[in-house]
Amino acid sequence: DRMVSSRTIADDEFEETTIRPHTLENYIGQEQVKANLRIFIQAAKQRSEPLDHVLLYGPPGLGKTTLSMIIANEMGVNIRTTSGPAIERPGDLAAVLSALEPGDVLFIDEIHRLSRHVEEVLYPAMEDFCLDIILGKGETAHSVRVDLPPFTLVGATTRAGALSPPLRDRFGVMSRLQFYDVDELAQILKRTAQVLNTELDEQAASEMARRSRGTPRIANRLLRRIRDFAQVANKGVIDQEVTKKGLSRLQVDDLGLDHVDHQLLLGIIEKFNGGPVGLDTIAATIGEERHTIEDVYEPYLLQIGFIQRTPRGRIVTNAGYHHFNLERKG
Ligand code: ADP
Repeated sequence: DRMVSSRTIADDEFEETTIRPHTLENYIGQEQVKANLRIFIQAAKQRSEPLDHVLLYGPPGLGKTTLSMIIANEMGVNIRTTSGPAIERPGDLAAVLSALEPGDVLFIDEIHRLSRHVEEVLYPAMEDFCLDIILGKGETAHSVRVDLPPFTLVGATTRAGALSPPLRDRFGVMSRLQFYDVDELAQILKRTAQVLNTELDEQAASEMARRSRGTPRIANRLLRRIRDFAQVANKGVIDQEVTKKGLSRLQVDDLGLDHVDHQLLLGIIEKFNGGPVGLDTIAATIGEERHTIEDVYEPYLLQIGFIQRTPRGRIVTNAGYHHFNLERKG
């Protein structure tokens, strides 16, 4: 597992449940998204109606799951959590929907991975709070409508573009989560340090924040690992020196890049003179799946301007070259 993977890795899960903020108030950053949600939540509560369906999209680790839990909490309702790949058949989804209580939030992570058949169950459920069930076979087949309790669907996806238009159109609220800036990440780190009862000084928080790829999940993970170094070598105090040493041991560079990023960037530089080179070729060169590169590795490299997307493929920018003290040839 990569130390700086934006996806959940083995040791994240336990602590993520203790670390997660439970209210909009404690959810740091994403100001625009929060401001809108606050209003929609308040209005829905005043009308005693469930909140409109919400689609949250953006790279992994930016707080989509956390926000869905906060929405349920702020609405004062229960949340049920599932994911696109976990719902294999239309009947599975029908069962989940039938078990909801009025007003509940149903969270579907990776919603772009629902199959078309399953999606079709969602349309009437989202629109009219009902299920169309087919009874009988062949000529005697007919459909019966079954009412569902009113509920809020919160969908999360790393790529809104992969959602089918009819599904996308049924969300009343669409919010895109952005990468966090260094100040916001430092705030998140300080909050997490408090929850974990760990001493984290200001400079260490900024140092870690700078190397967290704009991603709270990574920030929190780096903090937990550096806490180990601090415990063994520094009486538990996390200062800048311990942080720097720890991160260099973990092979996380000044910008939070690791060997996978280096391999990707240097691959394009060395084998393709900086590009342009197609995504499939890059995928083959570094032995990764195209989607993983697109959804997980690349967003941050695009964000910091080390890679650019062009119609003919990816190119490494001058800034990307300079990171390795290299110059483009020719
Ligand atoms: P996603 O669902 O987008 O992959 P998560 O909601 O699981 O991301 O968030 C990953 C981790 O980052 C969680 O442990 C959560 O506590 C933390 N986190 C995410 N966003 C925030 C935020 N805005 N403020 C504080 N912590 C956050």
